[in-house]
Formats: sequence, structure tokens, C-alpha cells
Amino acid sequence: MHKHTTKFIFVTGGVASSLGKGIISASLARLLLSRGYKTTIQKLDPYINIDPGTLNPYEHGECYVTEDGAETDLDLGHYERFTNIPTSQANNVTTGRVYQSIIEKERRGDYLGSTVQVVPHITDEIKRRIKLLAEGGKFDMIITEIGGTVGDIESLPYIEAVRQLTWESPEDVMVIHLTYMPYLAAAGELKTKPTQHSVKTMLEQGLQPDMIVCRTEHPLSRSARDKVALFCNVRPECVIESRDAKSIYEVPLMMMQEGLDREVLRTLKLPYGGKPNLTLWRVFLRRLEHPRHEVKIALVGKYVELHDAYKSILEAFLQAGAMNSCKVQVKMVHSEQLNKANVEKMLGDCQGVLVAPGFGKRGIAGKLAAIEYARTRRVPFLGICLGMQCGVIEYARNVLGWKDADSTEMNLRTHHPVIHIMDNQKNVKNMGGTMRLGAYPCTLKKGSLLAEIYGTQTISERHRHRYELNNDYIKDFEKAGMKVAGVNVGKDASGKKITRVEAVEIPAHPFFVGVQYHPEYKSTVENPHPLFIAFVAAAMRNI
Ligand code: GLN
Repeated sequence: MHKHTTKFIFVTGGVASSLGKGIISASLARLLLSRGYKTTIQKLDPYINIDPGTLNPYEHGECYVTEDGAETDLDLGHYERFTNIPTSQANNVTTGRVYQSIIEKERRGDYLGSTVQVVPHITDEIKRRIKLLAEGGKFDMIITEIGGTVGDIESLPYIEAVRQLTWESPEDVMVIHLTYMPYLAAAGELKTKPTQHSVKTMLEQGLQPDMIVCRTEHPLSRSARDKVALFCNVRPECVIESRDAKSIYEVPLMMMQEGLDREVLRTLKLPYGGKPNLTLWRVFLRRLEHPRHEVKIALVGKYVELHDAYKSILEAFLQAGAMNSCKVQVKMVHSEQLNKANVEKMLGDCQGVLVAPGFGKRGIAGKLAAIEYARTRRVPFLGICLGMQCGVIEYARNVLGWKDADSTEMNLRTHHPVIHIMDNQKNVKNMGGTMRLGAYPCTLKKGSLLAEIYGTQTISERHRHRYELNNDYIKDFEKAGMKVAGVNVGKDASGKKITRVEAVEIPAHPFFVGVQYHPEYKSTVENPHPLFIAFVAAAMRNI
């Protein structure tokens, strides 16, 4: 709708990490979208891993998977949840990926004998990847979040790339710097000095921020704002307060109140018109803040100490809860601390049980105990990926009576490999980016609970796995009451047509659903996932 070249907005961080650059970027995108600007968000991660796919959740929280199968930073999940627009491989760039493409070019001889250097080769590659999203004129605005903190050795080439872009087209580029303002109780005031120093560091690297967003636990006084403006060389209106919020979903409205979007548009000399359309957002917030019901749902997994490991699942519950006008209290249950003897005590106060995705043997016994409990006590159950696979193993052991039934991921010598490695995964040696990743279509069985929940028989969901239900056992499961509810028709390693089980159900149970895919990745504020909505509703009926 607006005629102009694509604008680039960079978001850097200073003083401390974990200030919420991702949420500020996502909030700004939400506001710009609501004003009619086509906006996307990109994350540049300064670490050397090619992607976070091989990183332990303790290190990096959840690995988020995009439609096109990129294993990415969890901030991309926030971007999608806030904007309702799918991201892709191009939306997450790591130092590893940048160096990989430069080194591949060097090996091909593309540099014709010249010395390959951080400047200009690495910085040019960073710029290329930033501009990639602008190709085809799909977006009016590209918000690029730079991971890490200004002053880090790793982020230097990124800051330099931004400096060059600013120099090349000053009209089209702006920089927002997010900092932290500590409150000194003894002095009774917010301190601006760390922010001043952080901006000085940026200036040393040749970059002048246009706006300063101050994360703070206390209101920013007029004098503190003026001080930041004067010493950081920005207009006073461009000093934005970002107070701690009750929920991350309040941040777009708080930012609008502070004038973040207005000042961004003013800086870029673009019209900001009237009020943005945030009706859906406000309806969601109202429901979130004034629930009429409450349920408790157990999330059984092995990374429960670390909420970031299950970020998308927790957010999907929040969104589905709001849709049901229901507060979903998620009880994190450590699968390693769960066993047959204590399962009743641990899960007895929950109206639903979700068994989480995961890898490896650790904590499997606890997951199986949770599933047996949910199945026999008729408690609503949702198993995601490994959670679904455990649902199948539990059924094989306790209903079909195959005591050694297992996944070959846990036990290669089982006589009943009800879950086994996918044919085309058998010869995979490289661990990075080689799982079955991204969106695949799935056909739901007519009359299944899932078909009813989705309101359609053709769906598409995202994946991240190497193992699957062994088709040799389908007949046995079906006869014993566990039904295949959804399949994907694909090709095996030799190109032969193959049907993969994507979902199972127990029709005799009030709500027992296992899905090989990850519904949580597709749940957004505007489109909460139907499976989570139905699961929460089932838990509400179980009160
Ligand atoms: N470890 C299982 C597999 O690779 C499940 C993966 C997951 O839960 N994401 O198939």
C-alpha cells in the first residue's frame, strides 16, 4: 500500500542480555503490521553453530522449526506468534552459516586467489543475508534483531555490517538500542550511566542509535529521559520506557503508548496515520486477563527446570486458554522423578496430561507411567512427537502385552520395535539439519476426533524427528483399540511410495491423542491451534 523502498530497522542490545529484544522486535512488527506495513523479522545469532538444532535445550532453550524446515532460535517463535506470518530459513542467520558459505566459496576458488577477510567478505555476506528478505518487494519493513550484547567480540562484524548499510542508504536504515536501567534503591533512582556507556561502545564502532528503549522496573522520570536523550544523542521522544509487563502480550500496547511505532515511522519519514487496528489483539488480552475458568495441566518432560525448553507449548496453552476463557495452569513435572508409585500423587491434581517432545532414553519410564495413568484414569492426554511415540509404546506394553515393546531409539534389541527409525534416516551420519524437518501434509481419517477438531481432513503441520510408528504393527494396534487418525503419503529412501503415521487416537477414551508432528509451532495469538483449544476444552470437562 505504501510506495517506497524497503526499510531496515536494526535492534541491538546493551548492558545485559535477556532484556527481551525478541519481544520488543516482535511488538514493533505487530504495531507496524497493524498500521498496514508489510513487516518481517530476522534474527542474527553471533554463535558459530550453523543452527541451534544441535544445541542442548539447557544451552539454548527450545529449537523452533519453520515451515521450510529450518531449525532456528526460539525468538522466531515469538515473531510468528506476534505477527501471524510464517518465517523461513532466511529469517535466522548465524555466524556459522555466514562463515560456512564464505569457506565453501573459497574452496570453490571463487575468490580468484585473493585473501578472504572479515572485512569485506564476512560483512558483505552478512549484508547480503539481511537484504535477501527485501528481494521481490514482499516487505515494506525488515526488522533485524542482533543477538548478544554490544561490545561482545562476536557481534563486531554484525555491527560493522549495519554501519556500512547505514552509510550506504541513511534514509532507509535505523537502529534501536535496547538497554537496561538499573534502580539503585539506596540512591532511590534509576541509573543512566550503563546506557551511556553502552551507546559509547556503539559509537566507537561507528553506529549511532536513533532510538533507545530502556528496560526498567521503575517508571522513567522526565529527567532520566532527558539525560539519556542528551548523552546518547537522540531526540527525547525517542527514549522509550519498557517496563516489566504481566504478560509478553501486553508489550505491543505498552510500546504503542510509549510511541515506539510512531517514532520509528517518523525517523523513517513514513506516514503513521491514525490508530492501528489491534482489535483482535485486545480481545485476546481481555480474555487472557479475565478468565472465567481454570484448569491444571501437567507437562511431563525432562527439561522442566527450564521454561524456555518448552516455550512454544507454554505459549500455545496460553493462547488456547484465552480462547476457552480459561486460565491454564501448567504444572511442570520432571519425567525422571515420576514413577508408577508416585504418579497418582504427582498428577492427581491435573485435569490433563501432555507428554513433551524429546530425545533419548532419559526420563522415558516416567513418561510411560504418566501415559498409563492418563489412559487408565481417562484423563485427557496429548502426546507430541516423542510423547506420541511413548503413547504407542505404553499401549503395546500394557494393552497388547508386549512387555519389551520399545522404540529402537531406546532399545535396538527389542522384539517389538513399535517405533523405529525412518527408512531414509538409517544412513544419516551428520546430525545437523538431517531430521525430517518442516511442514508436511497429513490426511486425517474421516470420523476421527482430529478431523472433528480441525474441521477438515487435510492439514499441514511441522516436524522434527528421525523415528516413526512401525507400519508392521498398525493392524495389531487398530484391533486393540488404538487407531491411526492421520497419515502422510511420502517417499522412502528408494523413492517408493510410503505411508507414515502422523497421529493416533484411542476412540474409547474421552481424549487420547498422539501426534508425530508439533502443533505448538503453529499456534499464534490470532490463530490459536485447534488441537490445543480442544485439549484445554477436554481438560475443562474433566474438572
Ligand atoms: N526422538 C524422537 C525422534 O527422533 C522424537 C523427536 C521429538 O520429540 N522431536 O523421532
